[in-house]
Amino acid sequence: MLNTLKKVFGFESFRPNQEAIIKNILEKRDVFAVMPTGGGKSLCYQLPARIMKGTAVVISPLISLMKDQVDAAIENGISAAFLNSSLSPQEMSGIYQQLKSNDLELLYIAPERFAMPSFLETLKTIPISLFAIDEAHCVSEWGHDFRPDYLSLCNITQTFPHIPVSAFTATATPNVQEDIITKIGLRSPYIIRASFNRQNLFYQVKSKTGIESQIVDFLKEHEDEPGIIYRSTRDSVFRLTEFLVDQGISVLPYHAGLSPEERKRNQEAFSRDRVTVIVATIAFGMGIDKSNVRFVIHADLPKNIEGYYQETGRAGRDGERADCLLLFGRQDIPKIRFFIDQMPNENERSISMEKLYKSVKYASHNVCRRRQLLEYFGETYTEENCGACDICAGNIEKVDITVDAQIVMSAMSRTGQYFGIRHIIDIVVGADTKRIRELQHNEIKTYGAGKHKEKKHWQFIIDELLAQEAIAQDGGQYPVLIMTNKGTEILYGREKIEGLKREEIKKKPKAFKVSGFQPYDEVLFDKLRVLRKGLAEEHKVPPYIIFSDMTLHQMCIYYPSTLDEMITISGVGETKLERYGTDFTKEIRAHLDKNPDISIPERSPSDLTVNRPQQKVKESTIEKTYEFFNEGLSVKEIAKARNLASSTITGHLESLIRDGRVAEIDRLIDPAKRNTIEEMFFALKTWNTGPIVEYSKGTVSYDDARLVRAYIQRKTI
Ligand code: ADP
Ligand code: MG
Ligand code: ZN
Repeated sequence: MLNTLKKVFGFESFRPNQEAIIKNILEKRDVFAVMPTGGGKSLCYQLPARIMKGTAVVISPLISLMKDQVDAAIENGISAAFLNSSLSPQEMSGIYQQLKSNDLELLYIAPERFAMPSFLETLKTIPISLFAIDEAHCVSEWGHDFRPDYLSLCNITQTFPHIPVSAFTATATPNVQEDIITKIGLRSPYIIRASFNRQNLFYQVKSKTGIESQIVDFLKEHEDEPGIIYRSTRDSVFRLTEFLVDQGISVLPYHAGLSPEERKRNQEAFSRDRVTVIVATIAFGMGIDKSNVRFVIHADLPKNIEGYYQETGRAGRDGERADCLLLFGRQDIPKIRFFIDQMPNENERSISMEKLYKSVKYASHNVCRRRQLLEYFGETYTEENCGACDICAGNIEKVDITVDAQIVMSAMSRTGQYFGIRHIIDIVVGADTKRIRELQHNEIKTYGAGKHKEKKHWQFIIDELLAQEAIAQDGGQYPVLIMTNKGTEILYGREKIEGLKREEIKKKPKAFKVSGFQPYDEVLFDKLRVLRKGLAEEHKVPPYIIFSDMTLHQMCIYYPSTLDEMITISGVGETKLERYGTDFTKEIRAHLDKNPDISIPERSPSDLTVNRPQQKVKESTIEKTYEFFNEGLSVKEIAKARNLASSTITGHLESLIRDGRVAEIDRLIDPAKRNTIEEMFFALKTWNTGPIVEYSKGTVSYDDARLVRAYIQRKTI
């Protein structure tokens, strides 16, 4: 496997989970894999397609994606083709010919082809190595882009009982996951849920003070880097594009109001590096595999975190550093609310409001952005500091809110932690309500202690305290505010608490480094990029298919000037070496001749892949928990023995369950209770633990919910 990985794809090591998935496919087991965008799903079926006998059939929903994937496979020397409605009858019959004479290692098809009896008859007569269903959430009506055509896949395992089927997606709530597995009929599949953490993305939020100048400033710092700017309406796309054109920036628009031809043309121009920046509504993105998107800017507040994660996920697929900037202004909130208010269904309205609230929270609280994103997708992030968001990197202005926090918590504490948000705010601002008079809360010391500030301010402080877990909401229908240990420490002045400064941020952000990324020769990079673009035009493929940015960066660190050196670069396989090796080594040699001062660094094997020290530390602490667990200790006992919080141990166990290493879930939670919690996840259609705890009216703890969640995520249905 490793040999094929290097020879064909030019990579030294697998990304997380790729190896396990490929092993299972090679053993002819069905696979269900949820991996984030950029996780490297294609390789999971393309590599077995090369190793196994017969043709691998890939079902993929979009014509544009198919074409790029086939181009990329061909560039790697894999014999690949696609069948879809864009082909002429001649082209079509040529491919059928290849298929029948077993010349194809990889065939991409659209799902509707599966409904054609004649096609199925042909397939039955040829040796097939595997079926891979890409974007598998399209089969589920719960998924966000359900495609009725995908239902034709429901018979696949019956029609081809001896061929392994694997399904891949980047989004799957519990319902979608179950739905995909049952609809396709996967036979006790090997299930993988990769982490959604995209380590190479840097997340930051800035107050929206003037979109145009803020974006121009950003673009100045990211000159010539391809990127996407999202805006919420066609009109604002239009205006921003005009403005940027005037500033001399290479930019094109994309929105649903353009003709299909124009959209296609603009998308292609972006994909082929003919234009640097695209300004778009969220209509842009599906069907883009461009791996060298270096930034994604959201100039307006996203409606929800799913969308935000998906859109930012289009940055940095090549694993190199990329930036995600959100310009946040509270004036965007009512605009979105306006649309939500139009929704006819009350239930949907309240779900959308809740989601909007989460995206406001993401932007406005002093909590690691990465942690918030991952928690939204049901993952517990255990690092103290992610090192790659504005909050953790410390380049955002913060203010001490300890005094305000103490006012709120003192009001809570003096009333026995027995009241909800609204009443607490009333006490703090000294409101004259009937309830306050009845309960004589106008006599406690904190009454009116915060009357110099608006109610909105106190709402914000409470939200911040909730987000930072200094306080929590307890109870179902009428939740009351209670204090956590952290809150108690703050109330008694033993700990401080900070919030984000909410006005304009004037300070220039400090330069930050995402660990593991090395500086490279930027002058050479520009030269190689021009070379790549020329070759791409000549070969009629997108530039990133020739070599990714990651591969060019490696060349700009190690200066490979012979073919022997070139083959050691990540992303250079045998076919690409043959096709492009000489062009690139020549350019590099010329650059070295012109710059005799350049010293070429020695390469150690560890330089070959991105170092991820954080990951390693985490692994060993999980291993320790694993050992203790195997010795028969309970969560509480392990926590005590290791002097860590139970929730941390639960986090370790979550990973272990998800990886299939801890199977004795009964030891951790009673089976009857587990069943109940499982049903709740399905009933609420979420991976979030918050709603479960709330729905259970306190009978289920966060830790229990987390363990059961990991169990469902792993479980074969
Ligand atoms: P996904 O479909 O999961 O979004 P892709 O299959 O498009 O992701 O892969 C994203 C990028 O990652 C591609 O440029 C691909 O070449 C690269 N890639 C995949 N596997 C590896 C690996 N093992 N090492 C380095 N790069 C990889
Ligand atoms: Mg993909
Ligand atoms: Zn962070």
